[in-house]
Amino acid sequence: MRNLLILSILATSALGQTLDERVRRELPSLVETYQKLHAAPELSTQEKNTSEFLASRLRDLGYEVTERFGTYAEPDVTSYGVVAVMRNGAGPAVLVRTDMDALPVAEHTGLPYASANAGVMHACGHDVHMTALLGTAKMLVDLKSQWRGTLILIGQPSEEIARGAAAMLRAGLYEKYPRPAYAIAIHDWALLPAGKVSYRPGFIMAASDAIDITVRGQGGHGATPEKTKDPIVVAADLVLALQRIVSRETSALDPVVLTVGSIHGGTKRNIIPDEVKLLLTLRTYKSEVRTRVIEAIERTAKGVATSAGIPADLAPIITIHPGEATPATYNDPALVERLAAAVRREIGASEVVDGDQVMVSEDFGRFSDGRKIPTAMLFLGAGDPQQISAGTAPALHSSKFAPPAEVTLRTGVRALTSMVLELMAGK
Ligand SMILES: [Zn+2]
Ligand SMILES: [Zn+2]
Repeated sequence: MRNLLILSILATSALGQTLDERVRRELPSLVETYQKLHAAPELSTQEKNTSEFLASRLRDLGYEVTERFGTYAEPDVTSYGVVAVMRNGAGPAVLVRTDMDALPVAEHTGLPYASANAGVMHACGHDVHMTALLGTAKMLVDLKSQWRGTLILIGQPSEEIARGAAAMLRAGLYEKYPRPAYAIAIHDWALLPAGKVSYRPGFIMAASDAIDITVRGQGGHGATPEKTKDPIVVAADLVLALQRIVSRETSALDPVVLTVGSIHGGTKRNIIPDEVKLLLTLRTYKSEVRTRVIEAIERTAKGVATSAGIPADLAPIITIHPGEATPATYNDPALVERLAAAVRREIGASEVVDGDQVMVSEDFGRFSDGRKIPTAMLFLGAGDPQQISAGTAPALHSSKFAPPAEVTLRTGVRALTSMVLELMAGK
C-alpha cells in the first residue's frame, strides 16, 4: 500500500513536469555539449570524431546505434553516417535528421569555445542541430510512456557538399531500417531571432546544380591576339551573357540564380591561354525551369564561342555534376501545419512565424524519396534579436555566426520533441 502510494506520487510529479521544465534542467549539459561540438568542427566526409561523439551519446541513452553508415559514389571515401533506433511498440516510424559537417571558414567570433580546428568552423550551425537532436533523444527516453512506434535518429554527413543524404539512402537506409512514415528536421536560421521558429508549406529551398564550363581557345602571344582565339575574352563575355538567361529568358515569377563563383585561366600577363574554367552554381525551384536554364547555358556558351570565331571542335565543354545536385526542398503542407501547431502549443503562438522561400539548398529533400514520404523542415531562430533589427546579424556561413546558445538550444529541443510527440503520441 505504502509502495503504491509512493509510486503514484512519483507518477504524478513526473507527469506534472512540463517539457520546458525538463529541457531547462538539461540546459547546462546541452550548452556544454554544444560548446564541445562547436570547438571541434570537421569538414564534409571527415566527420569521424563528431560521428563517434554523437553515436556514443545516443548509445548511452539506450538507442541501438550503427556507425559509419552510408556509401559514397567514390568507394575509397568513408561515410560517417549515424543511425540510432529506439523501438517502442506498435506505431509509426519517424525519422529525425541532423547533419554533422562544418565549413572551410576561419572562425572570427572571439568566443571562448571557438573552433580549435584552424580554418574549419560550424558556421552553418550543424552543431546546434546535433545538440538539439541529442536533447530531443534524451527527452524522448524520459517520456517513453507518451509515444509509440519506432524512432530513427540519424546523423547525416556531408550536407554542405550535398552528398550525405544520397550516401545514406544508397547504403539502404530505408531497407535496413523501417521505412519512415515521416521524415523531419530543423535548420537554424541566423536572421530569425533565437526563441522563434518559422515554417512554410510547400517549396522552401531551391534545387541546386553544380555546372562547369571549360571555354577553349587557341593560345599564343599576348602581343598578337589576332593570331589566337582568346578564351579569356570569350569567358568575360560569357559571364555577362549568362545573366541574360536569368533576366531576359526567365519569367520574373520563376526564381533563378546563376552565379559564376570561380573563374580561372592563364599563367602570365603576356600569354593568351588555351582555356578558361568557370565554376557555376544554379538555383531554381521548378524542374522545367531548371531544364530550360541548363539548355540555355549550353546554347549561350556555344553561341558566344562561335561568335568569337572559335571552331566547332573547340566548342566549350559543359559538365554537370549530378552527385552535387540537390532537388528543391518541399515541405508536405499537411505535415508541416500539423508540426507547427504542435510547436505553437509548446513555445507559444507568437513565437511561431511564417518563413520565406530561400535560394539556398539542402539535401534533406532526398529523404522524401521523390515526395513519397511526407517530409518537413522547420527553421529555428538562431540570431541575436538586437543585431537582427540593427541589420548587423551575421548570416549562416559567416565567420562571425554565433547563435545565442541557451535560447536557441532550449527552443530547438522543445520544438523538435513536441514535433516527434505529435507524430508518435498515438492520436
Ligand atoms: Zn550550410
Ligand atoms: Zn546547414
